[in-house]
Amino acid sequence: MDYYSSHISKLIEEFSRLPGIGSKSAARLAFHIINMSGEQVAALTGAITSAKENVRYCRECYTLTDEELCPICRSAKRDHKTIMVVENTRDLAAYEKTGQYDGVYHVLHGAISPMLGIGPNDIKLKELIERLKGDIDEVIVSTNSSLEGETTAVYISKLIRPMGIKVTRIASGVPVGGDLEYIDSVTLLKALEGRVLMK
Ligand code: ZN
Repeated sequence: MDYYSSHISKLIEEFSRLPGIGSKSAARLAFHIINMSGEQVAALTGAITSAKENVRYCRECYTLTDEELCPICRSAKRDHKTIMVVENTRDLAAYEKTGQYDGVYHVLHGAISPMLGIGPNDIKLKELIERLKGDIDEVIVSTNSSLEGETTAVYISKLIRPMGIKVTRIASGVPVGGDLEYIDSVTLLKALEGRVLMK
C-alpha cells in the first residue's frame, strides 16, 4: 500500500502498533511529522531514545524512575511502613496527584490474568513479599476493580495475611473496570479513606 512513499507507510505502520492509535490517527501523526522541522523531529526522537535508555525500576518500589531509588522511596517524610500496591506507575501518579497519601508504593507492573496467561511470577510480586520482611504496618491493595485487579488483590491478601501484616483493600466507589488513572482525586481519596480489611 505504498501510495506515496515507503517511508511514510513504514511510519504509519509503526504508529499503528501503539496503544489507542488506529490507522487514521497513525496516518495523521506520520504526515504531521513529515511537516515538522528537522529540529522538532530530533527533539522528539531524542526524547524517546533517552527515555528508553535512562528510565529504570526503582530498587525498592519498582516504579519507573531515573535513579536507583525514586524520590518517594528516598523521602524521609514518607511513612515507609505503609505500602500501597498499584498495578502501574500511572496509578501511582494518580495517587500522588491527590497530595494526601504519605506512605510508599509498590508497583506490580501488571495484574494476574489467567485468561491472558499472566501469572503471579509475571508481575513484581516476589519483590513485594521480599520487602515485607522489613518492618511493615499495612499493605493497601489498590489494584483496579477489574476482574484482573480483584484476582490480584485476593491473591496478595492470601499471601500476606499469614505474615501477620494488616492487608486492606481500597473501597468501592472506584467504578468497576475503571482504570485508576482516569478517576478524579476526590474519588481516589474516598476509596483510600474507606479502605476495608481484607479477609
Ligand atoms: Zn521507589
